Amino acid sequence: MIPGDGIGPEVANATMRAVDATGAKIDWERVELSADIILETREVLPPSVIASLARTRVGLKGPVTTPIATGFSSVNVALRKALDLFANVRPVRTLPGIKTRFADLAIDMVIFRENTEDLYAGLEHEVVKDVVTGLKVITRTASLRIAKYAFEYARRHGRKKVTAIHKANIMKLADGLFLRCCREVAQEFPEIQYKELIVDNASMQLVIRPETFDLLLLPNLYGDIVSDLAAGLVGGLGVVPGANMGVDYAVFEAVHGSAPDIAGQGIANPTALMLSAVMMLRHLGETAAAERLQEAIGHVYAEGAHVTGDIGGKASTREFTDAVIAAMR
Ligand code: NAD
Repeated sequence: MIPGDGIGPEVANATMRAVDATGAKIDWERVELSADIILETREVLPPSVIASLARTRVGLKGPVTTPIATGFSSVNVALRKALDLFANVRPVRTLPGIKTRFADLAIDMVIFRENTEDLYAGLEHEVVKDVVTGLKVITRTASLRIAKYAFEYARRHGRKKVTAIHKANIMKLADGLFLRCCREVAQEFPEIQYKELIVDNASMQLVIRPETFDLLLLPNLYGDIVSDLAAGLVGGLGVVPGANMGVDYAVFEAVHGSAPDIAGQGIANPTALMLSAVMMLRHLGETAAAERLQEAIGHVYAEGAHVTGDIGGKASTREFTDAVIAAMR
């Protein structure tokens, strides 16, 4: 467990309580990681974090603050690179009872975002004063493996359609390569429908008819933006889980950040980290515990009396968590 900073420790403690209440025997190893620790140690990724993950191979992670435009590079990006967590997986589903603008639609999509390259390679350069270039790196290896990951998931879970999202009309070489790799992989999965959408059109379609999307397959930057857009369709960043998957390691984390505006007030919504823990329990083979936790969360939302402020309720983090634990059967 890497609680992180900001609201991280609050939602982490709530999540550990809820997971323990499922009966799953998790031996939590707590590793501290925060903007302060990073500034103090001058290590974006302190060795204690990597050492713990190397041993356990599975992590549940809260958010860590990243300074914008200055300071250290993103710890999340560093973690993904260090452990080669190449696939970012974000299921986006309508939860019962949440009042959103799209509450009457059954939204159920899974977003597969390439996690290691693209403009997130962090290769920026000031050519001369006031002229900066940033390198967009797209490789065949990384594009093929994220595409395979998405299609294999589709086959395993009986999903029907994969939509690759791109801007190859403008970035003909970079996004063109990504698309060619997606098409190549799609041919190996003839039973799964394959579609392509340009990212601007995809953004509009996602808002107009979100219920028609099944699996989405994107390079890193579009994936980052589109997954937050999709989170907004089902109630926002407080309710969407995520997983960073590699061959040897898996780190499950909420989509939201450290929310400095509400940190320390005991009002953060722990649903995103709890649902990330549901994904983690499934990954660990603790299927019954995963279902118990997921159903209990669904029950609390359907009932609506103990939900947090970000989605229109009045409950504190603790009250929500108590209600989830009480709803477990
Ligand atoms: P944010 O997600 O922290 O907050 C955006 C808004 O959503 C805020 O109003 C916040 O109060 C609200 N919010 C987010 N999570 C919530 C929750 N669980 N319950 C209730 N409300 C919630 O995004 P930001 O403000 O852009 O970023 C703040 C910091 O977090 C930045 O330093 C950023 O780099 C970092 N960040 C970290 C991660 C990560 O560690 N995975 C992800 C995104 C942002």
